[in-house]
Amino acid sequence: MSEPETRWRREQIDELFDLPLPELLYRAQEAQRRHFDPGQVQACSLLSIKTGACSEDCAYCAQSAHHRTGLEREGLLDVATVRAAAHQARQAGATRLCMGAAWRGPGEADLDTLIAMVQAVKAEGLEACLSAGVLAEGQAERLAEAGLDYFNHNLDTSASHYDQVVSTRSYEERLETLERIRQAGMRVCSGGIVGLGESRADRVEMLETLANQPVQPQSVPINQLIPIPGTPLEDAEPVDPFEMVRTIAAARIAMPGSYVRLAAGRERMSDELQALCFAAGANSIFLGDRLLTTDNADEDHDRQLLARLGMGLEPREHACAELEP
Ligand code: SF4
Repeated sequence: MSEPETRWRREQIDELFDLPLPELLYRAQEAQRRHFDPGQVQACSLLSIKTGACSEDCAYCAQSAHHRTGLEREGLLDVATVRAAAHQARQAGATRLCMGAAWRGPGEADLDTLIAMVQAVKAEGLEACLSAGVLAEGQAERLAEAGLDYFNHNLDTSASHYDQVVSTRSYEERLETLERIRQAGMRVCSGGIVGLGESRADRVEMLETLANQPVQPQSVPINQLIPIPGTPLEDAEPVDPFEMVRTIAAARIAMPGSYVRLAAGRERMSDELQALCFAAGANSIFLGDRLLTTDNADEDHDRQLLARLGMGLEPREHACAELEP
Protein backbone atom coordinates (compact mmCIF):
# COMPACT_ATOMS: atom_id res chain seq x y z
CA MET A 1 0.00 0.00 0.00
CA SER A 2 2.72 2.47 0.85
CA GLU A 3 4.97 1.60 -2.04
CA PRO A 4 5.30 4.73 -4.13
CA GLU A 5 2.30 5.02 -6.46
CA THR A 6 4.64 6.61 -8.91
CA ARG A 7 8.23 7.73 -8.89
CA TRP A 8 8.18 11.39 -8.07
CA ARG A 9 10.33 13.73 -10.10
CA ARG A 10 11.61 16.85 -8.43
CA GLU A 11 9.87 19.08 -10.98
CA GLN A 12 6.52 17.48 -10.18
CA ILE A 13 6.86 18.29 -6.50
CA ASP A 14 8.09 21.74 -7.36
CA GLU A 15 4.98 22.27 -9.47
CA LEU A 16 2.80 21.31 -6.52
CA PHE A 17 4.43 23.98 -4.38
CA ASP A 18 3.74 26.53 -7.15
CA LEU A 19 0.00 25.82 -7.38
CA PRO A 20 -2.50 28.39 -6.18
CA LEU A 21 -3.14 27.44 -2.56
CA PRO A 22 -6.83 26.47 -3.07
CA GLU A 23 -5.85 24.12 -5.91
CA LEU A 24 -3.04 22.60 -3.83
CA LEU A 25 -5.42 22.06 -0.91
CA TYR A 26 -8.00 20.51 -3.22
CA ARG A 27 -5.48 18.00 -4.56
CA ALA A 28 -4.18 17.23 -1.07
CA GLN A 29 -7.72 16.58 0.15
CA GLU A 30 -8.40 14.30 -2.80
CA ALA A 31 -5.25 12.32 -1.98
CA GLN A 32 -6.14 12.10 1.68
CA ARG A 33 -9.64 10.81 1.03
CA ARG A 34 -8.28 7.91 -0.98
CA HIS A 35 -6.69 6.51 2.19
CA PHE A 36 -8.04 8.19 5.28
CA ASP A 37 -11.10 9.58 6.98
CA PRO A 38 -10.54 13.35 6.75
CA GLY A 39 -12.37 13.85 10.03
CA GLN A 40 -9.88 11.85 12.06
CA VAL A 41 -6.48 12.67 13.43
CA GLN A 42 -4.08 10.10 14.79
CA ALA A 43 -2.82 10.88 18.29
CA CYS A 44 0.66 9.96 19.42
CA SER A 45 2.36 10.74 22.69
CA LEU A 46 5.97 11.72 23.00
CA LEU A 47 8.26 10.76 25.85
CA SER A 48 11.90 11.68 26.21
CA ILE A 49 13.58 8.57 27.59
CA LYS A 50 17.07 10.05 27.63
CA THR A 51 17.51 13.79 27.60
CA GLY A 52 20.41 16.06 26.65
CA ALA A 53 24.19 15.62 26.43
CA CYS A 54 23.90 14.25 22.90
CA SER A 55 27.18 13.85 21.03
CA GLU A 56 25.63 14.95 17.72
CA ASP A 57 25.67 18.58 16.61
CA CYS A 58 22.25 19.08 14.98
CA ALA A 59 22.07 22.86 14.68
CA TYR A 60 18.43 23.11 15.75
CA CYS A 61 18.56 20.88 18.78
CA ALA A 62 18.47 21.87 22.45
CA GLN A 63 19.85 18.48 23.41
CA SER A 64 23.17 18.65 21.62
CA ALA A 65 26.21 18.78 23.90
CA HIS A 66 27.76 21.10 21.30
CA HIS A 67 25.35 23.91 22.18
CA ARG A 68 24.85 25.83 25.42
CA THR A 69 21.12 25.71 25.87
CA GLY A 70 20.95 25.20 29.62
CA LEU A 71 18.92 22.05 29.19
CA GLU A 72 18.97 19.75 32.18
CA ARG A 73 20.29 16.36 31.18
CA GLU A 74 18.74 13.12 32.32
CA GLY A 75 19.98 9.56 31.98
CA LEU A 76 18.00 6.73 30.47
CA LEU A 77 14.63 6.39 32.21
CA ASP A 78 13.78 3.15 33.93
CA VAL A 79 11.31 0.77 32.39
CA ALA A 80 8.66 1.26 35.09
CA THR A 81 8.54 5.01 34.36
CA VAL A 82 8.07 4.32 30.67
CA ARG A 83 5.29 1.87 31.40
CA ALA A 84 3.52 4.40 33.61
CA ALA A 85 3.82 7.02 30.86
CA ALA A 86 2.40 4.56 28.33
CA HIS A 87 -0.54 3.87 30.62
CA GLN A 88 -1.28 7.59 30.99
CA ALA A 89 -0.89 8.18 27.26
CA ARG A 90 -3.41 5.48 26.49
CA GLN A 91 -5.85 6.90 29.01
CA ALA A 92 -5.49 10.24 27.26
CA GLY A 93 -6.45 8.74 23.91
CA ALA A 94 -3.06 8.22 22.29
CA THR A 95 -2.58 5.17 20.09
CA ARG A 96 1.20 5.23 20.04
CA LEU A 97 3.98 6.13 22.43
CA CYS A 98 7.00 7.62 20.70
CA MET A 99 10.14 7.36 22.80
CA GLY A 100 13.03 9.68 22.04
CA ALA A 101 16.61 9.13 23.17
CA ALA A 102 19.21 11.88 22.69
CA TRP A 103 22.30 10.09 21.53
CA ARG A 104 24.10 9.13 18.35
CA GLY A 105 22.74 5.61 18.53
CA PRO A 106 22.11 2.93 21.11
CA GLY A 107 25.08 1.14 22.66
CA GLU A 108 24.74 -2.59 23.11
CA ALA A 109 24.15 -2.19 26.86
CA ASP A 110 21.27 0.23 26.22
CA LEU A 111 19.62 -2.03 23.71
CA ASP A 112 18.39 -4.47 26.37
CA THR A 113 16.75 -1.60 28.24
CA LEU A 114 15.17 -0.28 25.04
CA ILE A 115 13.80 -3.72 24.31
CA ALA A 116 12.25 -3.91 27.78
CA MET A 117 10.72 -0.46 27.22
CA VAL A 118 9.21 -1.53 23.92
CA GLN A 119 7.70 -4.59 25.58
CA ALA A 120 6.29 -2.43 28.39
CA VAL A 121 4.63 -0.04 25.92
CA LYS A 122 3.14 -2.93 23.95
CA ALA A 123 1.86 -4.49 27.18
CA GLU A 124 -0.12 -1.28 27.75
CA GLY A 125 -1.84 -1.77 24.40
CA LEU A 126 -0.09 1.00 22.51
CA GLU A 127 1.95 0.99 19.36
CA ALA A 128 5.60 1.62 20.14
CA CYS A 129 7.89 3.97 18.29
CA LEU A 130 11.49 4.69 19.09
CA SER A 131 13.68 7.54 17.97
CA ALA A 132 17.17 6.55 18.99
CA GLY A 133 19.57 7.68 16.33
CA VAL A 134 21.61 5.62 13.95
CA LEU A 135 21.16 1.87 14.18
CA ALA A 136 24.11 -0.49 13.93
CA GLU A 137 23.94 -3.81 12.13
CA GLY A 138 21.63 -6.25 13.89
CA GLN A 139 20.03 -3.71 16.24
CA ALA A 140 16.96 -3.13 14.09
CA GLU A 141 16.22 -6.86 14.04
CA ARG A 142 16.38 -7.11 17.82
CA LEU A 143 14.03 -4.16 18.24
CA ALA A 144 11.64 -5.58 15.67
CA GLU A 145 11.62 -8.93 17.47
CA ALA A 146 10.70 -7.10 20.67
CA GLY A 147 7.60 -5.78 18.88
CA LEU A 148 8.71 -2.27 17.99
CA ASP A 149 6.22 -1.00 15.42
CA TYR A 150 7.95 2.16 14.21
CA PHE A 151 11.43 3.55 14.28
CA ASN A 152 11.74 7.29 13.79
CA HIS A 153 14.70 8.69 11.96
CA ASN A 154 14.14 12.04 10.29
CA LEU A 155 16.01 13.19 7.23
CA ASP A 156 15.67 16.71 8.67
CA THR A 157 16.25 18.48 5.36
CA SER A 158 17.53 17.92 1.82
CA ALA A 159 20.81 16.18 1.08
CA SER A 160 21.96 19.50 -0.44
CA HIS A 161 21.31 21.54 2.70
CA TYR A 162 22.26 18.85 5.19
CA ASP A 163 25.84 19.98 5.82
CA GLN A 164 24.48 23.30 7.05
CA VAL A 165 22.56 21.48 9.76
CA VAL A 166 24.53 18.44 10.96
CA SER A 167 28.19 17.51 10.64
CA THR A 168 28.50 14.51 12.96
CA ARG A 169 26.50 12.06 10.89
CA SER A 170 26.04 11.86 7.17
CA TYR A 171 22.92 11.82 5.04
CA GLU A 172 24.04 8.44 3.78
CA GLU A 173 24.08 7.06 7.33
CA ARG A 174 20.54 8.31 7.74
CA LEU A 175 19.37 6.59 4.59
CA GLU A 176 21.14 3.40 5.69
CA THR A 177 19.28 3.50 8.99
CA LEU A 178 15.98 3.85 7.12
CA GLU A 179 16.93 0.80 5.07
CA ARG A 180 17.80 -1.19 8.22
CA ILE A 181 14.41 -0.33 9.71
CA ARG A 182 12.63 -1.51 6.56
CA GLN A 183 14.71 -4.64 6.25
CA ALA A 184 13.88 -5.58 9.83
CA GLY A 185 10.18 -5.33 8.96
CA MET A 186 9.41 -2.24 11.01
CA ARG A 187 7.54 0.80 9.81
CA VAL A 188 9.46 3.95 9.13
CA CYS A 189 8.70 7.33 10.64
CA SER A 190 10.75 9.93 8.80
CA GLY A 191 10.24 13.54 7.95
CA GLY A 192 11.90 16.86 8.38
CA ILE A 193 11.93 20.38 9.67
CA VAL A 194 10.79 23.55 7.95
CA GLY A 195 12.79 26.64 8.88
CA LEU A 196 16.39 25.42 9.00
CA GLY A 197 17.48 28.16 6.63
CA GLU A 198 16.69 25.92 3.69
CA SER A 199 15.19 27.10 0.43
CA ARG A 200 11.97 25.89 -1.12
CA ALA A 201 14.13 23.82 -3.47
CA ASP A 202 15.50 22.02 -0.40
CA ARG A 203 12.01 21.30 0.87
CA VAL A 204 11.12 19.92 -2.54
CA GLU A 205 14.28 17.80 -2.61
CA MET A 206 13.62 16.40 0.86
CA LEU A 207 10.07 15.38 -0.10
CA GLU A 208 11.40 13.84 -3.29
CA THR A 209 13.83 11.71 -1.26
CA LEU A 210 11.13 10.64 1.19
CA ALA A 211 8.54 9.90 -1.48
CA ASN A 212 10.96 7.81 -3.54
CA GLN A 213 12.08 5.51 -0.74
CA PRO A 214 11.57 1.86 -1.75
CA VAL A 215 8.59 1.87 0.60
CA GLN A 216 7.28 5.27 1.52
CA PRO A 217 7.61 6.11 5.23
CA GLN A 218 4.34 5.17 6.85
CA SER A 219 4.65 8.20 9.10
CA VAL A 220 5.99 11.57 7.96
CA PRO A 221 6.44 14.22 10.64
CA ILE A 222 6.70 17.76 9.32
CA ASN A 223 8.13 19.99 12.01
CA GLN A 224 8.38 23.74 12.17
CA LEU A 225 11.62 24.94 13.69
CA ILE A 226 11.34 26.31 17.18
CA PRO A 227 14.49 28.43 17.44
CA ILE A 228 16.23 27.55 20.71
CA PRO A 229 18.49 30.14 22.33
CA GLY A 230 22.04 28.81 22.41
CA THR A 231 21.73 26.79 19.21
CA PRO A 232 23.27 27.93 15.90
CA LEU A 233 19.74 28.39 14.54
CA GLU A 234 18.51 30.60 17.37
CA ASP A 235 18.13 33.53 14.96
CA ALA A 236 16.84 31.57 11.99
CA GLU A 237 14.44 33.53 9.80
CA PRO A 238 10.89 32.33 10.37
CA VAL A 239 9.32 30.69 7.35
CA ASP A 240 6.02 31.98 5.99
CA PRO A 241 3.33 29.82 7.66
CA PHE A 242 1.77 29.17 4.23
CA GLU A 243 5.02 27.51 3.22
CA MET A 244 4.48 25.06 6.07
CA VAL A 245 0.96 24.45 4.74
CA ARG A 246 2.34 23.90 1.24
CA THR A 247 4.97 21.48 2.53
CA ILE A 248 2.31 19.45 4.31
CA ALA A 249 0.06 19.45 1.25
CA ALA A 250 2.89 18.37 -1.06
CA ALA A 251 3.86 15.61 1.40
CA ARG A 252 0.23 14.45 1.47
CA ILE A 253 -0.01 14.31 -2.32
CA ALA A 254 3.39 12.64 -2.81
CA MET A 255 2.83 10.14 0.03
CA PRO A 256 -0.95 9.72 0.07
CA GLY A 257 -1.03 6.58 2.23
CA SER A 258 1.27 7.96 4.94
CA TYR A 259 0.28 9.61 8.14
CA VAL A 260 1.55 13.19 7.86
CA ARG A 261 2.20 14.52 11.32
CA LEU A 262 1.98 18.14 12.28
CA ALA A 263 4.72 17.79 14.87
CA ALA A 264 7.00 20.30 16.60
CA GLY A 265 5.95 23.92 16.36
CA ARG A 266 2.24 23.20 16.49
CA GLU A 267 1.90 24.76 19.91
CA ARG A 268 3.03 28.09 18.44
CA MET A 269 0.47 27.97 15.66
CA SER A 270 -2.90 29.64 15.83
CA ASP A 271 -5.95 27.42 15.81
CA GLU A 272 -6.69 28.71 12.32
CA LEU A 273 -3.27 27.73 10.98
CA GLN A 274 -3.56 24.28 12.52
CA ALA A 275 -6.96 23.91 10.85
CA LEU A 276 -5.39 24.85 7.53
CA CYS A 277 -2.66 22.25 8.07
CA PHE A 278 -5.35 19.61 8.67
CA ALA A 279 -7.08 20.74 5.49
CA ALA A 280 -3.73 20.36 3.73
CA GLY A 281 -3.60 16.72 4.75
CA ALA A 282 -1.94 16.58 8.16
CA ASN A 283 -3.64 13.75 10.01
CA SER A 284 -1.46 13.03 12.99
CA ILE A 285 -0.45 15.05 16.04
CA PHE A 286 1.41 14.66 19.27
CA LEU A 287 -0.94 15.14 22.14
CA GLY A 288 0.28 17.89 24.45
CA ASP A 289 2.31 16.91 27.49
CA ARG A 290 -0.48 18.10 29.63
CA LEU A 291 -2.45 15.08 28.65
CA LEU A 292 0.19 12.89 30.23
CA THR A 293 -0.52 14.44 33.59
CA THR A 294 -4.15 15.43 33.51
CA ASP A 295 -7.12 13.17 33.96
CA ASN A 296 -9.48 15.70 32.51
CA ALA A 297 -9.00 15.34 28.79
CA ASP A 298 -12.20 17.30 28.08
CA GLU A 299 -10.41 20.49 28.93
CA ASP A 300 -7.49 19.84 26.71
CA HIS A 301 -7.05 22.44 24.05
CA ASP A 302 -6.32 19.89 21.32
CA ARG A 303 -9.58 18.12 21.93
CA GLN A 304 -11.46 21.39 22.04
CA LEU A 305 -9.91 22.46 18.76
CA LEU A 306 -10.73 19.16 17.09
CA ALA A 307 -14.30 19.40 18.40
CA ARG A 308 -14.63 22.94 17.02
CA LEU A 309 -13.47 21.58 13.68
CA GLY A 310 -15.92 18.68 13.82
CA MET A 311 -12.98 16.30 13.92
CA GLY A 312 -11.87 13.66 16.37
CA LEU A 313 -9.04 11.38 17.34
CA GLU A 314 -8.60 8.23 15.32
CA PRO A 315 -9.65 5.24 17.38
CA ARG A 316 -7.11 2.56 18.24
CA GLU A 317 -8.70 0.11 15.84
CA HIS A 318 -8.29 1.87 12.55
CA ALA A 319 -8.97 0.35 9.21
CA CYS A 320 -6.02 1.72 7.35
CA ALA A 321 -4.74 -0.97 5.08
CA GLU A 322 -1.13 0.11 5.16
CA LEU A 323 -1.04 -0.45 8.87
CA GLU A 324 -2.19 -4.01 8.61
CA PRO A 325 0.58 -6.50 9.25
S1 SF4 B 1 20.82 13.36 17.35
FE1 SF4 B 1 18.82 13.96 18.09
S2 SF4 B 1 19.10 14.53 20.24
FE2 SF4 B 1 21.13 14.47 19.29
S3 SF4 B 1 21.53 16.58 18.69
FE3 SF4 B 1 20.63 15.55 16.89
S4 SF4 B 1 18.40 15.90 17.05
FE4 SF4 B 1 19.33 16.40 19.06
